[in-house]
Amino acid sequence: MQFYTEYLWFSTKKQRDFINITSQVDSALHKSGIQDGMILVSAMHITAGVYVNDAEDGLIQDIEEWLEKLAPYRKDYRHHRTGESNGDAHLKNLLIGHEVIVPVTQGKMDFGPWQQIYYAEFDGQRRKRVLVKVMGE
Ligand code: ZN
Repeated sequence: MQFYTEYLWFSTKKQRDFINITSQVDSALHKSGIQDGMILVSAMHITAGVYVNDAEDGLIQDIEEWLEKLAPYRKDYRHHRTGESNGDAHLKNLLIGHEVIVPVTQGKMDFGPWQQIYYAEFDGQRRKRVLVKVMGE
């Protein structure tokens, strides 16, 4: 079993953003040379997420609206007693999840036709990163 690790850095201009990272993960897979195995893609933060879904603009807006409905930006979260203001970002992270696993077969990401990997930023405008770990043979 071989392992290859890479870190993707982000510093979004907006507080919230959705970034398609499929090609960056694919490039890590090619650098690894691994033919069969899996890739762990994991946000190294508690206020950002990683998910797999369609790269369709309308859907991305729907996801953002859905997250805002379930975990709205508010001033009165108990978490804000610590002096922070990102309570909603922590809840959004729990809804989206912080990591995904991508299967690798014959040197390629073994995805269905519409599956794309997204980094979802909920508390941006600072440097944050995603771990990409390719495992296999
Ligand atoms: Zn916080």
